[in-house]
Amino acid sequence: MRPVSREDADRLDAIRRANQRRRVSVVEAFDLTPHMRRVVFRELEPSACEPARPAEWIKLHVPTCGQGKKHGRAYTIRERREGQLSIDMALHGGLCASWARRARPGDLAEVSGPRPGCKLAWPPGNVVLGVDETGLSAVASILANLPRQTRGIVWLEVPDARDIQHIEAPPAVSVRFLPRKMTPQGQLLIQAMREAPVSPAAAVWVAAERAAALELREHFETMLPRERVHTSGYWRMPFSQSGDSSAFSAKTRAA
Ligand SMILES: Cc1cc2nc3c(=O)[nH]c(=O)nc-3n(C[C@H](O)[C@H](O)[C@H](O)COP(=O)(O)OP(=O)(O)OC[C@H]3O[C@@H](n4cnc5c(N)ncnc54)[C@H](O)[C@@H]3O)c2cc1C
Repeated sequence: MRPVSREDADRLDAIRRANQRRRVSVVEAFDLTPHMRRVVFRELEPSACEPARPAEWIKLHVPTCGQGKKHGRAYTIRERREGQLSIDMALHGGLCASWARRARPGDLAEVSGPRPGCKLAWPPGNVVLGVDETGLSAVASILANLPRQTRGIVWLEVPDARDIQHIEAPPAVSVRFLPRKMTPQGQLLIQAMREAPVSPAAAVWVAAERAAALELREHFETMLPRERVHTSGYWRMPFSQSGDSSAFSAKTRAA
């Protein structure tokens, strides 16, 4: 058997640590806006205290009704300090979202991670960022970590105007909310990002529903080098609701 190199051992150790679950308990949970709830956890078991990275995320494992099983989904860390971490959870019909709606101080869950979230060459000088409500925390974290002289534009699609939040950004980065109201998910974001002028030096970062993320990747890869276009499908609409289900099989590169 080939001896394990130092790098392989370090990589395996990092994967093991990223997957290790730790118990957390809810300190507080409150609605930030009608469709977004902040949950603050106290970590009951120590985690590696690495410095925070832009858009880093954890996997949250919440209890389900059946046989002590847990249901795990990814959430971006909004804040992490002194043994506490906060996440902002979009409220919809899913299991984690429903758990968030009911979360009360003292409720128990598990987390694994954190894992790095922003895979752009860092720091980019000119940014084009686009997200739906699931990417709000990621964008807030990316913006907070950008140098002050960064230029660019950020599009944030949210369920309605009451979901607009204040997001700190460098002065030359314009932040624009897109309340979707009755418009289908992702449509306003796609339209705004397709129509926006893009500097040849820009770096693009998108996190949204999978079909929207794929469409935006195809669009931006026609004008920028691949390494400056990062798109992530943060969640997936069931085929029957996504409008064009054939798009999923036609586009094979996963977001
Ligand atoms: C790296 C990463 C970071 C993320 N960070 C965040 C974050 O900070 N905050 C956040 O809210 N989400 C975030 N997400 C998205 C989140 O993981 C998904 O929305 C997840 O599917 C929610 O889990 P659930 O158990 O509630 O629903 P699931 O069990 O996954 O899905 C159940 C049903 O709900 C639908 N659904 C799932 N998400 C949504 C949605 N957003 N809107 C409408 N319908 C939905 C599904 O299509 C499905 O029909 C992130 C995802 C990734 C990959």
